[in-house]
Amino acid sequence: MRSVDEHQRAVAGLITARAPVDVAIGDALGLVLAADVVAPLALPGFDNSAMDGYAVVAEDIADATEEHPVKLPVAEDIPAGRTDPLVLEPGTAHRIMTGAPLPTGATAVIPVEATDGSTETVSIRASVVPGQHVRRAGEDVTPGTTVLHAGQVLTPAALGLAAALGLGSLRVVPRQRVLVMSTGSELVAPGTPLQPGQIYESNAVMLAAAVRDAGADVVTSSTTEDDVDLFRAELQKNAGDADLVITTGGVSAGAYEVVKDSLADEVEFVKVAMQPGMPQGSGVVWGTPIVTLPGNPVSALVSFEVFIRAPLRAAMGLPHPGRPRRPATLLEDLTSPRGRRQFRRGVVDHDGGTVTSYGPPASHHLRWLASADCLLEIAEDVTELAAGSPVQVWDLS
Ligand code: AMP
Ligand code: MG
Repeated sequence: MRSVDEHQRAVAGLITARAPVDVAIGDALGLVLAADVVAPLALPGFDNSAMDGYAVVAEDIADATEEHPVKLPVAEDIPAGRTDPLVLEPGTAHRIMTGAPLPTGATAVIPVEATDGSTETVSIRASVVPGQHVRRAGEDVTPGTTVLHAGQVLTPAALGLAAALGLGSLRVVPRQRVLVMSTGSELVAPGTPLQPGQIYESNAVMLAAAVRDAGADVVTSSTTEDDVDLFRAELQKNAGDADLVITTGGVSAGAYEVVKDSLADEVEFVKVAMQPGMPQGSGVVWGTPIVTLPGNPVSALVSFEVFIRAPLRAAMGLPHPGRPRRPATLLEDLTSPRGRRQFRRGVVDHDGGTVTSYGPPASHHLRWLASADCLLEIAEDVTELAAGSPVQVWDLS
């Protein structure tokens, strides 16, 4: 049997990053920058008002008080967006709005709250010091500054900064494109009637969601019956559009194992020393890496977590690609098969640092998986764990 670590290395070795591309900033959330971003312009781009009020020469209103207001004629009205160059003559005021360009000659802005708000002759009841309520050009960003760095994840704020700098697109590591294929002649799409012996397909939708949750794109997610010709045709049709193919089902020891029967030349089928998820495979089909997961839904999702999620995220440049792992104290007795690494579903109490396993270890209990928030990892050489033992958990939350 192949060890979990060995199969992790085999899968990770197949998944590689795509070449960087330019992506519109509206589509770049969560992607990783492939190049530093150097500011092409200053922020603010020009001196402008920080308040709604009046642009003045500060000295002109130095003596203004509640009791002795200073009156100035209002020579201009400057809303945000006014683009013509303006000059403020000493002894006058310009009504000005937040973000509007400060007229040449003005040295400060008096907020409207300290005035009578007039548009003809404004009565000003307070003084200002030069520079007050003025945002200076370049005080946030000077041109030529590296403001975002290659390798950082694009957050809403980072995209806002790029937009403020006038950058319509950014050079990023593209998302991996993943083809998800489930197999099984018993499978019927949710929403259609079931015949006796049929079940609803759940792996394709689950793994497609897991792929997206990992930050990657799904090229196609499809289900084929256990027919070698149909399966190979479907695979060949879509593999070229994908960076990775994930299949489920058809890799066990029975008859009608469609994935095994179809890809004997392209895929190395192995038994991995883990539970759930023993039958696994990896290889390359029509130039695209492929990982073949077992069909039991719990095995399929646990296998995705153990073998695919971290290298998929690493290939997109994401920092901390793996699930966080931490020790927790087990609250119950557990057994685990000798020679297999067991992944139990569990529920963690983060405050108390404790964990309980959730549901039976068998690999078809999807309900328990849906309520679990962690995987308990139990080492190959451990067969019994007593309540109170330390155990490693993978945080899925
Ligand atoms: P297999 O690995 O194809 O032998 O499938 C193992 C078990 O998982 C069988 O009970 C299948 O019916 C079930 N199974 C396989 N694929 C799916 C799927 N896509 N959705 C739900 N159950 C599945
Ligand atoms: Mg099957």
